[in-house]
Amino acid sequence: MHNRRDFLRASASTAAAASLSAAPAPVPAKTMVGIQVGAVSFVDEGTPKALDILQQRGAVNTLFLATFTYGRGIAGRQVPGQPLPDHGRQEYDLDFHGGNYGTVHPQYYHDTAIKPEDTRAPDHGNLDIIAEVLPQAKQRGMKTILWTEDVWRYDIPNIVKLQEVDLHGRPARRLCVNNPYHRNFLLGLVEDYARSYDIDGIMWGSERHGALGIALGSNHGGRGSDPASASCFCEHCEKKARALGQFQFERVRQGYLELEKFVRAGRAGQRPVDGYYVSFWRLLMRYPEILAWEQFWHDGLREIYSAMHARAHQIKPGLQVGWHIWHNNSFSPFYRAQQDLKTIAPSSDFLKMVIYHNCGGERMASYIDSVTANLYGDLPKQDALEFHYHVLNARERSYEQIPFTGLSADYVLRETQRAVLGAAGTSTLIWPGIDIDIPTGDSHSKSTPKGTKDAVLAAFKGGAHGVILSRKYSEMKLANLSGAGDAIRELKLA
Ligand SMILES: [Zn+2]
Repeated sequence: MHNRRDFLRASASTAAAASLSAAPAPVPAKTMVGIQVGAVSFVDEGTPKALDILQQRGAVNTLFLATFTYGRGIAGRQVPGQPLPDHGRQEYDLDFHGGNYGTVHPQYYHDTAIKPEDTRAPDHGNLDIIAEVLPQAKQRGMKTILWTEDVWRYDIPNIVKLQEVDLHGRPARRLCVNNPYHRNFLLGLVEDYARSYDIDGIMWGSERHGALGIALGSNHGGRGSDPASASCFCEHCEKKARALGQFQFERVRQGYLELEKFVRAGRAGQRPVDGYYVSFWRLLMRYPEILAWEQFWHDGLREIYSAMHARAHQIKPGLQVGWHIWHNNSFSPFYRAQQDLKTIAPSSDFLKMVIYHNCGGERMASYIDSVTANLYGDLPKQDALEFHYHVLNARERSYEQIPFTGLSADYVLRETQRAVLGAAGTSTLIWPGIDIDIPTGDSHSKSTPKGTKDAVLAAFKGGAHGVILSRKYSEMKLANLSGAGDAIRELKLA
């Protein structure tokens, strides 16, 4: 297990080695200051220039280079329709494709059903962004952690063999955590990156929950979630469940069919005779399999964490391997209940806890909109929000205000403290994800230099071991990136 002292020592020696070269003076890597950045930024701005900006404005010493994802959210330019920032190409990447931005080495993948070569990102021709950026980052004493996420596209040949199957037997637009081809692919990806490049670590993230979360839409944006698409009910999940001997598989399905009716009625404004909350509990007590199936999904995800972590460490014990923990951890008590850091810590060298303050207001309101259409439907929205603030230990503004104000630096402080305490006694490092210009609705709150600076200060006040500026450089305004850097400089961490 890699500990904080090793990391600091390794950082110091890398920085010392780099200072002997002719490269620009490195940012002393006392504390991890990371930024998520995709290939497109280096292509658009030139690698040396982009690195200069990250170091000078953001005091960045670690790149979280987006290398495997089909999501524009971390690998592309600004989201179309949102204002373009004051750097990079001034146009939208409407032809964004995604995939693996490194070179695919097929020999490291076994029994994956899909051809690993088919995952190669075509966006920038033959460019291998890892080979391009890594040596230049090293020369400056910067670390590189490869950033990979659970976002796929469904036109990859044979991808259906990895997909989840929903309540009604249809392929779902998610890959199954218990599917051996999917697991083999992720292990192949880890092995490929660990063996092919002299990187410092790997971060992977999955912004998903299990069947209960999907059915209720208990997440920001959840109002659009279809309870009929709850998953997974594939043959691999069924086989695993039967082998565990804890489930009557048909009862799981029946429970979710009843839950589907409950959610549909709630969204149609049809209040059950005994109210939403009582009816929800009646359903859970009748079908405890509903809850057990949610746990079953999270256990599958934990097994993936553990397997990826072990594979990386078998190959290079010094690699830092950790996980991006979804923002829903700040909204849904059910999701938070699954994020028990003590149980995740043994397979986590670090955790990027998403604590995005600015977009957090809009997202919290969106979460409340969704859950007050079913299990909390008996409560006025403001009351439902107050309930959540109490159980989640937040002190923020009203339902009407938060989309326009965002959440405060106090939210960043409380969430960081909670994560640090949650992982206390383990060697897992806590690196809060800091919001810089994550897109929000037109009239909603926007990042500012002061708000960004205050969020970074709050994270360190809360005991963070580092920060990860998020979601991606290509959507950040330079003044806001400087706001983060100002906090780092003020704290003399750089
Ligand atoms: Zn499955």
